[in-house]
Amino acid sequence: MSTTTNKLVVITGASSGIGEATAVLFAQKGYKLLLLARRKDRLEELVNDSRYSFNQDNTLIHQCDVTNVEDIRTGVELATKKFNLPVDCFINNAGIGHSSPLSEQSLDKQYAVIDVNIKGVLNGINVVAKDMVQRQAGTIINISSIAGRKTMDGASVYCGSKFAVHAISETLRSEVASSKVRVVVISPGVTESEITGHDEKLHEMVEGMKKGLTLGILKAQDVAESILYAYQAPPHVCLREIVLAPTEQSL
Ligand code: NDP
Repeated sequence: MSTTTNKLVVITGASSGIGEATAVLFAQKGYKLLLLARRKDRLEELVNDSRYSFNQDNTLIHQCDVTNVEDIRTGVELATKKFNLPVDCFINNAGIGHSSPLSEQSLDKQYAVIDVNIKGVLNGINVVAKDMVQRQAGTIINISSIAGRKTMDGASVYCGSKFAVHAISETLRSEVASSKVRVVVISPGVTESEITGHDEKLHEMVEGMKKGLTLGILKAQDVAESILYAYQAPPHVCLREIVLAPTEQSL
């Protein structure tokens, strides 16, 4: 059952996978939501889906490429005006993957991963962190990966981008701790989503990892629940990192 929670939560990459599942769960909990992604049609489809708790009063969608900081800033300005609330939680979830040996990768693909997975996160932080520090309140949740904790053959730049998310998050966490702002890293293992749909080698790599996992891989909702858990912890508790993976994932 939906209740109303007078907090504004921003989710990047809300049009599929983990971001979409997080949007659904946070809507169910009654949060005011700003949902960002490039595919506005997918956001529209999601918020009009009668199975979920989205409505005009609690949701704003905004077409946004996270590599463009002004896209994020405009969305945040529109949402803070619509709801007359500051951003209480910003979830840097948008991300892309790419897999192939480094010696064979095109620079274009490498740069795209860096742009979305690192610069996109920096852009999100740039839009909200200063205000959170001034207000002495707020939570920034960055979606990293097990690939941000250990390297994996074929995923060099993706791992590099997620190691960067860890380093940036931990430094930011330390810098804003005395301002009562929380910085959380969520590090999932293999999760059902559309991330492998754009890269054949990544698809093969993940399918290989899935083989023999009789209990299955994580569902996007599993990750969404860990995000909600971290956010709903009492204000004096900062869950600095949640690492979750399929039980049978050995990596
Ligand atoms: P999906 O491909 O299902 O979702 C990715 C989301 O990011 C989409 O909503 C997409 O929206 C958005 N996105 C991609 N590029 C941009 C961009 N330039 N600007 C704005 N939005 C963008 O993948 P996941 O749900 O798996 O990925 C979510 C996060 O989880 C990523 O950071 C990923 O690295 C991380 N992760 C995923 C794991 C997995 O196994 N699936 C494991 C560990 C971490 P649109 O295309 O509409 O812009």
